[in-house]
Amino acid sequence: LFIAFEGGDGAGKSTQASLLTEALEQAGRRVVRTREPGGTPVGEKLRGLVLEHGHGEIDPRTEALIFAASRAAHVQQVILPALERGDVVVCDRYIDSSVAYQGAGRALGTDTVRGLNEWATEGLVPDLTVLLDVDPGAGRSRRTASAAAEDRLESEPDEFHGSIREAFLTLAGESPERYLVLDAGLPVPVLAGQILARIGGLLP
Ligand code: C5P
Repeated sequence: LFIAFEGGDGAGKSTQASLLTEALEQAGRRVVRTREPGGTPVGEKLRGLVLEHGHGEIDPRTEALIFAASRAAHVQQVILPALERGDVVVCDRYIDSSVAYQGAGRALGTDTVRGLNEWATEGLVPDLTVLLDVDPGAGRSRRTASAAAEDRLESEPDEFHGSIREAFLTLAGESPERYLVLDAGLPVPVLAGQILARIGGLLP
């Protein structure tokens, strides 16, 4: 079972991915918790490249290709082997983040970025994507309150984060059966309960 968490900066993806992983492990499941960009030694280096250099030095196409390269390695080296073993994969960000950030946010075009990533992943899609929908204003105050305040996107205007939010919601609207869309502003335990309830129904 392949579960992805998506949403804007400050949505609380990492918190929910951790809580879900703990709950599944307590229920006796083997879980591979991973993240993008990153997830493999090469992928972590690629993540470092993008986060270190930022937009002054990395143009949007290069950025999209770096994220896609990181994802290709991640799918081949981590996600597919885990799924073949029968483990549950819980991944913090996947293709939708590229479609939203590079396709919409950086205006490369959502279809183009989606096509690039379908190629990179050989069409592997999550069984369920949990979209933590965050209002850009709320996301900003959460980000500022956490270590992510150092984030390279912190300086982007709310419109940038707004276009990303819209892109995530559009993707969810296109395949509603594969998405669980939740209001990221709900209390952490409430969100965790709703996520677990939905995933419980998917487990064999
Ligand atoms: O949320 P996380 O720490 O994984 O993301 C690292 C940074 O990379 C964040 O600023 C996020 O917005 C950005 N990012 C991006 N494009 C992606 C994925 C992440 O700009 N496709």
